[in-house]
Amino acid sequence: MGKRVYSEKNERYRKIPSVDRILGDALVQELIREYGRRTVTDAIRSVLDEVRERLSDAAQDQEILCSVEEIAEMARQRIADLTALSMKRVINGTGTILHTGLGRAPVGASVLEQTVRIGGGYSNLEYDLDTDRRGDRSSHFERLLCRITGAGAALAVNNNAAAVLLLLSAVASGGEVIVSRGELVEIGGKFRIPDVMELSGAALREVGTTNRTRREDYESAVGESTKLLLKVHTSNYRIVGFTESVSVAELSEIGERSGIPVAVDLGSGVLIDLERYGLPHEPTVREVLEQGANLVCFSGDKLLGGPQAGIIVGSREYIDRIRRHPLIRPLRMDKMTAAALEAVLVEYLNPEQAVQTIPALRMLTEKVETTRSRAARFLALAGQKGCSARAEMSGEACCSQTGGGALPETEIPSAGITVRPYRMSASALEQRLRHTSVPVVARVLQDKVLIDLRTVADEEVELLSEMLLEALS
Ligand SMILES: *Cc1c(COP(=O)(O)O)cnc(C)c1O
Repeated sequence: MGKRVYSEKNERYRKIPSVDRILGDALVQELIREYGRRTVTDAIRSVLDEVRERLSDAAQDQEILCSVEEIAEMARQRIADLTALSMKRVINGTGTILHTGLGRAPVGASVLEQTVRIGGGYSNLEYDLDTDRRGDRSSHFERLLCRITGAGAALAVNNNAAAVLLLLSAVASGGEVIVSRGELVEIGGKFRIPDVMELSGAALREVGTTNRTRREDYESAVGESTKLLLKVHTSNYRIVGFTESVSVAELSEIGERSGIPVAVDLGSGVLIDLERYGLPHEPTVREVLEQGANLVCFSGDKLLGGPQAGIIVGSREYIDRIRRHPLIRPLRMDKMTAAALEAVLVEYLNPEQAVQTIPALRMLTEKVETTRSRAARFLALAGQKGCSARAEMSGEACCSQTGGGALPETEIPSAGITVRPYRMSASALEQRLRHTSVPVVARVLQDKVLIDLRTVADEEVELLSEMLLEALS
């Protein structure tokens, strides 16, 4: 009995075509031309392994697909999965403008064009065309940063976390850095001020309490080994109630009297006056420098609206010291980032235009009426496409957030669409939206999916309606 099963199985294995026969198939030949023999042979072998395994597990009368064509098709699928790009464009329906998970600030067309131009060829990245000498990659945007912020000098590295590490290492290593206990920030991605301090070789000297730090706290902590007074923007939280903190201007007075530099980690680094657009006041980089800070560092991809970068501006003396530190090399930015940063900073030469051309600023400052009419257009389009037969949809007032540790607690009035599907739960729809051909990230509110239109571009509205239909179907 056992022997018979064995021989029958053997019989079935013999039906499996050889690798060579499969390699002769027309589809497989085409795959080889596109992906190379190695990739295709590997795919075929792994399909054959699987077929053999299935055969050995299968009941005697069970049909197992193993013709040449069937195996070729399975191999094609396997190669398609292998070569599919993991990074996908998504539609941000969350209303969080600087969503770290979704890549923070999207960049505008002119910035993108310059990035493509520079990235696609050679450039004068570190080459001075006038003198035929080695140049500096920060030189391309230093003068712009100085003009926009009023600083004497500037440089940029990979991100702001790197900028803080570099700044502390260059200015305060081996000494003490005084920081308020109310500003010992942890931001996302394991960036904690005390840890970065330790890494830099500087010793953290905490002063004051969580909710109150006074001028005298700094003054009495200043000593022989003090190398820096650091102020950190409380990006992702607010301490409210019985609070007191020391302004940059006051810190600068203390610093000046004792000959100690003052640095501010501003986090987001706003370059324009947001109050003019009805938003709460956020100190701009220029203001912080005017209040006397010697060094200010901030991100490139938060409210600046550019590529990921960490920018340090300040007096020439300190920037030069930072430039000479060995960490500048491991933390340096890529050429495409340098190109994008220069291009986005050019936009700031005309701030009124910058709030239109820089997507993050445009979304942040967009009037709610504009968002509402985009929501209405989406609602109408989705209805026309047939979504309304599958779900109850309506316009709804909602609130957007800045995100990325900028303007915490500030809710920006916005407009969205709620979708309550008839034949699935809201969380099932939310999940399906994440798996459409262009994934849509949205929120679930009780039994509805909410799509906030502030973070959806005009050009994406039609696509969004198609994706909603795809998810509902
Ligand atoms: C966001 C932030 C950082 C880190 O900046 P990245 O550019 O994300 O590295 C550092 N400090 C503060 C206060 C921040 O808000």
